[in-house]
Amino acid sequence: MPPSPKSDPSDLPAKSVQADYLIVGGGAAGLSLAYHLSQEPRLADKTVLLIEPEAKDQNDRTWSFWTAEPHPFEAIVAHEWHQIAFRSPGFERVIDLGPYRYQMIRGLDFYTFVRQALAANPRFTLLRGTVDELTNTPTGVQARGSAGTATARYGFDSRPPDVVPNPAKHRYLLQHFVGWEVETDTDAFDPAVQEFMDFRGPQHHEARFIYVLPFGPRRALVEYTLFSETPLPKAEYEVQIVDYLENTLGLEPTQYRVVAEEAGAIPMTDHPLPARAGAHIVNLGTRGGRAKPSTGYAFRRIQAQSARLVAALAATGQLPADVTGDRWQFHLFDTLLLDIMRRRGETTRDIFQQLFARNPVERIFRFLDETTSWADNLRVMNSVSPGPFLRSIGHVLRGRPGQR
Ligand SMILES: Cc1cc2nc3c(=O)[nH]c(=O)nc-3n(C[C@H](O)[C@H](O)[C@H](O)COP(=O)(O)OP(=O)(O)OC[C@H]3O[C@@H](n4cnc5c(N)ncnc54)[C@H](O)[C@@H]3O)c2cc1C
Repeated sequence: MPPSPKSDPSDLPAKSVQADYLIVGGGAAGLSLAYHLSQEPRLADKTVLLIEPEAKDQNDRTWSFWTAEPHPFEAIVAHEWHQIAFRSPGFERVIDLGPYRYQMIRGLDFYTFVRQALAANPRFTLLRGTVDELTNTPTGVQARGSAGTATARYGFDSRPPDVVPNPAKHRYLLQHFVGWEVETDTDAFDPAVQEFMDFRGPQHHEARFIYVLPFGPRRALVEYTLFSETPLPKAEYEVQIVDYLENTLGLEPTQYRVVAEEAGAIPMTDHPLPARAGAHIVNLGTRGGRAKPSTGYAFRRIQAQSARLVAALAATGQLPADVTGDRWQFHLFDTLLLDIMRRRGETTRDIFQQLFARNPVERIFRFLDETTSWADNLRVMNSVSPGPFLRSIGHVLRGRPGQR
């Protein structure tokens, strides 16, 4: 049975629906997969059901990422930069990105763009509701939840992961931040240069930096960001943003206004987040380990996985045997970096400084994108002081996170 006629997404039909593909959750990963599916002519006969509880009508986040390739969401890129800056005490560099661009997409623009594209396609049905249970059956998947029941050949699950932390075995950090979008009365920002990491402030035995997206000489998003285990009281981030605006940029308190705020905490962990949940279910997004453990970046990894899944489904009708393409050595690098961040957070600044001082930015981006060759991996590893890594290799071999 094809999906029922397109319904208002606010409907909650208590009935059973069938489709070829069921996507659970319509955030970054669910909508990305749906969009990639909608663009593949070889899958033009497939029906897709997407179940999402929220209206997705708020700008709840902003995605930034680097890319050297054109991608399906160029039309909604709000800003892009061709230069980034790295700064730490004693080392500052403005870096030309060459073939790369650093881009920003607003969450609301993304939700609206994809949902409008899907609404125009009768093969896609968007239901408003939760999925509480998703299970494999001999021939596919079955979902139960507030939207009734649904069956499909394959299920793609992007619900937040259910992680029960095991700190004796794994590392649990957060990339947490508070950001202020500010307007200034005088020119204060260089709109050509994205401030990627400014580590010049005190580290307090952690990794703490300022991150700036300048939209114009008088408007920018300024974030105080940490890689650490515990979020701070909000006022502590704000003190650091004020310090940056007034002491680094030299603004008087009367010369700037906060026009918007954002805050977030992205898990950075080596806790296993399996990419499959049985024969017919793929875990997507954060649930499937797409947030890179050592950086928190996920948007481009989500796009890469969507493209990979759609290519296999179009070519073979089946899921790919390997649904992520992850390579084990990069898991190891991530775990080592998390171990160092946890054990000696202040060392993170030195590691990033050495990376940026001793490698072309293309190599750093390819390394973080997990596309470097073994030779380039060796060059990257040779560019950083080996001591902290050797100690963390010991912890990894013993199967226990290092302690401070
Ligand atoms: C504030 C913030 C800023 C970020 N910035 C960046 C960035 O700049 N660059 C970058 O690369 N990454 C960034 N990330 C990390 C990552 O890209 C995002 O978290 C991304 O949204 C992850 O996609 P996702 O689909 O896994 O999760 P989400 O986008 O959160 O989507 C999950 C969806 O599942 C739905 N859901 C929940 N429960 C159920 C249920 N029971 N049934 C059905 N659906 C359900 C939710 O409503 C939600 O819509 C950021 C994360 C945050 C939180």
